[in-house]
Amino acid sequence: MQDFQQYIGGAFEDGCASFDSLDPATGKSWARMPAASAQDVNRAVRAAEDAFYGSEWASMTASLRGKLLLRLADLVAENAPRLAELETRDTGKIIRETSAQIAYVAEYYRYYAGLADKIEGAHLPIDKPDMEVWLRREPIGVVAAVVPWNSQLFLSAVKIGPALAAGCTVVLKASEEGPAPMLEFARIFDQAGFPAGVLNVITGGPEAGAALTAHEKVAHVAFTGGPETARHIVRNSAENLASTSLELGGKSPFIVFEDADIESAVNAQVSGIFAATGQSCVAGSRLVVANSIKDQFLARLKEKAEAVVIGAPDDMATEVGPLCTKAQRDHALALIEASQAAGARLVTGGKALDREGFYFPPTILDCSDAPDASCLSQEFFGPVLSVVSFDSEEEALRIANDTKFGLASGVFTQSLTRAHRMIRGIRAGIVWVNTYRAVSPIAPFGGHGLSGHGREGGLQAALDYTKVKAVWLRTSDDPIPDPFVMR
Ligand code: NAD
Repeated sequence: MQDFQQYIGGAFEDGCASFDSLDPATGKSWARMPAASAQDVNRAVRAAEDAFYGSEWASMTASLRGKLLLRLADLVAENAPRLAELETRDTGKIIRETSAQIAYVAEYYRYYAGLADKIEGAHLPIDKPDMEVWLRREPIGVVAAVVPWNSQLFLSAVKIGPALAAGCTVVLKASEEGPAPMLEFARIFDQAGFPAGVLNVITGGPEAGAALTAHEKVAHVAFTGGPETARHIVRNSAENLASTSLELGGKSPFIVFEDADIESAVNAQVSGIFAATGQSCVAGSRLVVANSIKDQFLARLKEKAEAVVIGAPDDMATEVGPLCTKAQRDHALALIEASQAAGARLVTGGKALDREGFYFPPTILDCSDAPDASCLSQEFFGPVLSVVSFDSEEEALRIANDTKFGLASGVFTQSLTRAHRMIRGIRAGIVWVNTYRAVSPIAPFGGHGLSGHGREGGLQAALDYTKVKAVWLRTSDDPIPDPFVMR
């Protein structure tokens, strides 16, 4: 068993309580994690508050903040293999994905390092001759960041990067499922030379999350997770009227027209739903395909799904690994059973694999005759694709928008004019045309509806960690007249 520590006020500590973390590939405990108590949460927020108001961080120039973030980016890049190994071990996300993703996480810190000294205020052409009015952009304060278990290093970088670039301080609560990579990240962060308390990393379940997001000293809550938890988060933040950014789930449509390059679309769909073992918020989990090519498309997809290499997450040859938890696997099984009962036809997969660990195979459900099947509306968070077909562009758009989520979408067509019509009509925060799952620190990421609000990535994300202060300066040397002289 390995032991991990939490990181509060620049010190590593065990915490009063602990819990075991399971290896999803075996279902067995492999590490002991500290469980943050309400007192730990309070101390972490106080440390962040002290750093925000009292430490050298408060008076540090933006350029120096940028240099520290750059050092952090280099350290993340150097330590990417170790971080990837830990994320794979603790969450079951396959090593070929964690390796690539974490190397790219360094680019997010690099991007926000470069932005730190470009967050500018403004001068206003005010309508009074003897006044100068300008806007200062100041950091919003202590940020509570709460992340889910999948892609924690990535999902925390899109919060920590812009928050620190803006001059905020952060308390991050890692997920109770697989916190090892975040607790190791704290050690790397510690080497970068930031003042104590600028980032604090704790872990634990809903209680720790609730104590953090309801804390009276928290100014902003940055959350990634499921919609049900988000409702708690919003209620918690109401205590302090803290602002929130919510990155939630999705049921993203992957729309394929009859004129699409079929092989490219099939490959993009395979990675769109089966990459990350389907445990991705942007998973293209609803295939919306033209009736005229449906049989051909499904046949090719089935062939590819059945050829996917299922195996140990730490094997570079593995393409689909285990789900992170037993609960995830049970949820997938129950949803498939309910969908079949509603008329969905199982094309491939659908049964848990007979081996230790939480393995689940690539699964395809044809819902063409089951428009009310729950697999079309509920998030699986697993490698399960639901299929519906259409006869016209209008019908494709109607099906694509028939969801309470609004995170991502994909459109495959060779027609430029149709692509533009779809881009306009789709209600989602991201539209990928003839591609899927591309991300970059430069492009904003987020959704609407049950997929949340606020954007991560890009310049706006850094601005969202600032508040505007309007400054009025009178330029006249004339004395201010007695306001009651007319009395
Ligand atoms: P979850 O909502 O169960 O948990 C997320 C985090 O919230 C965890 O750290 C958890 O401890 C914490 N939490 C739970 N209850 C809380 C409470 N009452 N108050 C405060 N914090 C609380 O999500 P999960 O199952 O870990 O992750 C899967 C979900 O995350 C999916 O819905 C997925 O779509 C979503 N997700 C979204 C994105 C995105 O960027 N849009 C990315 C990845 C995952």
